[in-house]
Amino acid sequence: MLRILVLGAAAGGGFPQWNCNCGACRRARAGDSDAVSSHQASVAVSRDGEHWFVLNAAPDLRQQINENPALHPKGGLRGSPIAGVVVTNGDVDAVAGLLNLREGTPFSVYAHERVLRVLRTNSIFNVLDRDLVPRRELPLDRAVPLMLADGTPSGMTIETFAVPGKVALYLEDPAKKGFGSEPGDTVGVHIREEDGGASFFFISSCAHMTPEIAERVKGASLVFFDGTLWADDEMIKAGMGSKTGARMGHMSMSGEAGTIAAFRDLDVARKVFVHINNSNPALLGDSPERRELEAAGWEVGVAGMEITVPDTGTARASAMGGHASATGGHARASGGRAEARISIAVRQTRR
Ligand SMILES: [Zn+2]
Repeated sequence: MLRILVLGAAAGGGFPQWNCNCGACRRARAGDSDAVSSHQASVAVSRDGEHWFVLNAAPDLRQQINENPALHPKGGLRGSPIAGVVVTNGDVDAVAGLLNLREGTPFSVYAHERVLRVLRTNSIFNVLDRDLVPRRELPLDRAVPLMLADGTPSGMTIETFAVPGKVALYLEDPAKKGFGSEPGDTVGVHIREEDGGASFFFISSCAHMTPEIAERVKGASLVFFDGTLWADDEMIKAGMGSKTGARMGHMSMSGEAGTIAAFRDLDVARKVFVHINNSNPALLGDSPERRELEAAGWEVGVAGMEITVPDTGTARASAMGGHASATGGHARASGGRAEARISIAVRQTRR
């Protein structure tokens, strides 16, 4: 069984964004229940409920830890249940939170060599003592064990795979093709229990769906996916910027080439958008765009959402009993949640 906590679901800048006075950000500041504030995108995963791996270290990580009791220190005077941090790209949104984790507690940083190089060449990350905080390279397309801070196996493996994307904005080289982006700059993550039990995908940035990615996620129990924009030109239309989603390396939720269409026939049991920009109307609980994505079987991630993916052994019991194996966020308690729970359990049984 894997337990997953959504620590935040917003794109860079969070929601509301510090300098944004758009209608949605104003509603979030006013405490509107259909415009729920969100930290930047990150999830934490655990197999035993005691040791956790954080996927992407958002600048909000300190608050994310404070708001999630599972991540609070336990036992001794100093320490943390966080055994490791997996970094899927070099964006500020994915690496800045590492700076919150100084102060001498051991854990591991996992990343592709391209991202490890970013950490090496920015000396501020030396605040993480390399003896206490080893940096472990993640090869593409090969499952490797996630290790606890003391070097023992966590019982989970991680496999990363290149996804189309763009190198972090501050690393762009206008003179080079694709601004100097290379495979490994942006990766998707597949975390599995070692005994072949529960698994899920986390793809927090993706420029377009490829046949390879579609094949990987087909039939998955759970996929978190990049939900930056609803429409490619929404930031331009809103007067928020001059870049399209495509220029920023993100596919949109809507449209023929969009994420909702791309997943239509992939038979994924539970699909959750994360990394949602504050310009995206689907962030708003009362928007037609939100209704449209929910009708297509998608959910919008929100901090505090907890999802449990059961392993094969318990799946049948969960399905028959119909009790909670995947609990939804605090957003809404409805029959839809129960259905989502059962569909995951049934899929696990089938496999
Ligand atoms: Zn805004």
